[in-house]
Amino acid sequence: MERARRRAVLVPVGSLEQHGRHLPLDTDTRIAVAVARGAAALRQGVAVAPPVAFGSSGEHAGFAGTLSIGTGALCSVLVELGRDATRDWEAMLLVNGHGGNRDAVSAAVDRLLGEGQRCAAFHASPGSGDAHAGLTETALLLHLAPQAVRLDLAEAGERRPVSELMGRLRSEGVRSVSANGVLGDPRGATAGEGRRLLEELIAGCVASLDALLPVPAPAHA
Ligand SMILES: [Zn+2]
Repeated sequence: MERARRRAVLVPVGSLEQHGRHLPLDTDTRIAVAVARGAAALRQGVAVAPPVAFGSSGEHAGFAGTLSIGTGALCSVLVELGRDATRDWEAMLLVNGHGGNRDAVSAAVDRLLGEGQRCAAFHASPGSGDAHAGLTETALLLHLAPQAVRLDLAEAGERRPVSELMGRLRSEGVRSVSANGVLGDPRGATAGEGRRLLEELIAGCVASLDALLPVPAPAHA
């Protein structure tokens, strides 16, 4: 790709954290990568960077497999990436797959905007979905990587809406509200629903990309 055509780089931001017994630790990273790739394929001059595969997952501490770098470190990584990326690219779009990363992602975007960089974030979580390792993420993974899903181990977790749980989640973590680490109910998830959810997320990501780069990219000669 010619330098002049480097318009935007998408950086998937994921996590390595427990997703119940039925989903892989890197579920959020896989979703963020798939959304970024799907969006990049629909626009010229857009590339996808390797994902930032560790995130801010302190709320999942106490479950085996979770490895978190925390909000401060994640924010610093994203700020440094943004400073570097915008030397070669017109803009950077962070594609975030994990709700616990929101504070770090927002702070990084604010900092970069304050420095005059062109950047934004797209949060790859369906508005209507359940919170964690439930129907939504399980459906997405059944579509993206069915071999990585252990449906035979899928079990319901805490099913109250996350808005009701947020206080305890933030102060005491997931374990305080859900012994199996699941927020929602993964049973009944299907790959077909996962494909529909992925298309919805990709459309949202493309809209964020277009808002970031309002002038249409020139077509390849
Ligand atoms: Zn997740």
